[in-house]
Amino acid sequence: MAEKVIIVGSGPAGLTAAIYTARANLDPICYTGMLPGGQLMTTTDVENYPGFPEGRMGPQLMDDFRKQAERFGAKMEDNLVEKVDLTQKPFKVWPAGSADPVEAETVIVSTGAEPKLLKLDKEAELMGRGLSTCATCDGAFFRDKVIAVVGGGDSAMEEATFLTRFASKVYLLHRRDEFRASKIMQERALANEKIEVIYNTTVSEYLSADGKLTGAKLKDTVNGEETDLELDGLFLAIGHTPNTELFKDQLDMDENGYLLVKPGTSLTNIEGVFACGDCQDHVYRQAITAAGTGCMAAIDAERWIASNE
Ligand code: NAP
Repeated sequence: MAEKVIIVGSGPAGLTAAIYTARANLDPICYTGMLPGGQLMTTTDVENYPGFPEGRMGPQLMDDFRKQAERFGAKMEDNLVEKVDLTQKPFKVWPAGSADPVEAETVIVSTGAEPKLLKLDKEAELMGRGLSTCATCDGAFFRDKVIAVVGGGDSAMEEATFLTRFASKVYLLHRRDEFRASKIMQERALANEKIEVIYNTTVSEYLSADGKLTGAKLKDTVNGEETDLELDGLFLAIGHTPNTELFKDQLDMDENGYLLVKPGTSLTNIEGVFACGDCQDHVYRQAITAAGTGCMAAIDAERWIASNE
């Protein structure tokens, strides 16, 4: 028999959908994906999630969400979904390593987004060897080292500030002369004496020796001049790409791959398939908005099941 609800992804959106659908006795199964808990697993203090006046560590917050969903019977499968067929009902979802699909009456897509890369030579081989997209994961490897962060948004400010806990010096490399980050996060980063900002700069090449990053070639965006900067580590914080490849040619998406939902709902172009969280939101991208849309998806799914019974 088909499952009532399958949730793909386990960030704030997916886990909120799991809490709501579990409490509605819909016995949801949540495939937790590549990074169970989603992007907050790579964050430190979350200070803007309501209900925690002192803040909460990202991984702890996601663990709370998961336990809350499990308390009401949501089943967590720590696995990826490799393929879906949403063209006919019941929908079919293939977990990694499984020849047979799991069938479902409804699918809630909450696959989130992942860090963008610079797409320079040697990027893949240097990842984890001096190059990183996650300060929380890798910061501790750079105790008393000289590192740099690329980007000018909130992530770059947050990562640079966090990394000063370990590094002796953090360069903040930004391609313009103005940050897009919120004032409060800019001020925090700029006030930190370990952080030195280099404006109007892009990384044009990763420098390496013996398979390890040793620095970056920087290009001045105003006069085109190139200089080498010696580094022990380089962190990319330049935004995200939605994880929606799995749904290509089945679910409608915009030119950047963000899933399209009917305004004010979680409804996709396929009845019975709902989308929530960062895979459909390139505007707000907050844990609280992801959780809010996860709740919407759960209620939309619940109503859809009830009206089709
Ligand atoms: P973002 O706001 O999209 O910023 C990306 C930054 O990277 C921009 O400064 C951009 O430069 C730069 N960039 C993009 N592609 C680049 C490239 N190829 N080479 C060099 N630089 C490049 O992304 P984000 O900082 O990850 O933030 C995403 C959302 O999450 C935002 O809404 C943010 O407020 C939120 N967020 C909140 C918190 C918090 O409140 N604790 C923490 C992190 C993120 P340009 O400015 O020139 O475009």
